[in-house]
Amino acid sequence: MRIRGPANAEQAAPWAGSVNSSVRYTAEQLVSENRPLPRLITRSSDIHAAGCFALEDIPKGTVVLEYTGERITKEEGDVRYDGRPFTYLFGIGDGAVVIDGHGMAMFVNHSCDPNCETDEIDGRIIIQTLRNLKAGEEITYDYWLYDGEDEAPCYCGSKNCRGSMYSPAEVKRMQRVAAKAKKQAELAERKNRAASNREHSNP
Ligand SMILES: [Zn+2]
Repeated sequence: MRIRGPANAEQAAPWAGSVNSSVRYTAEQLVSENRPLPRLITRSSDIHAAGCFALEDIPKGTVVLEYTGERITKEEGDVRYDGRPFTYLFGIGDGAVVIDGHGMAMFVNHSCDPNCETDEIDGRIIIQTLRNLKAGEEITYDYWLYDGEDEAPCYCGSKNCRGSMYSPAEVKRMQRVAAKAKKQAELAERKNRAASNREHSNP
């Protein structure tokens, strides 16, 4: 199962809110909190399927979206997305709780050279601009995927694309796991060969 993570995950305190609650922050609620969001639109994207685009110029450091959705346990996320090629899960705190994306932010695509970043504030995930954005630009952030089993190739097309939507640490972890599996397979193969050699020499 693939889970998106905030760039500041290591500093994030374990999330203490209630799980499996229907807590969802809507656009209306954000406006009532005096946090109006810039105008965006969801439409077809060259990166992947659908994406989010700015309808107006947005200055650097602006919160453009909140990653809204139901808060569930990681185990519940495993059940919901079992066998599905993609997930909309975003890990918060120590990762025991995930947000099951529901809203515009779930459509924001990954880029290895993103124009936005995610941040965790009091158990809520916000997406904010890393630089000034022009109207019409697609909003992107680095997914920093973790907890993966299958490949998550990246087609973001940026010059420094790392070829995977997993975080660099997760890419290394998966390479270690793959190398270990390969070594074990080779060992088993060698044992099999030795056993069959013995059979052949002692008819
Ligand atoms: Zn990339």
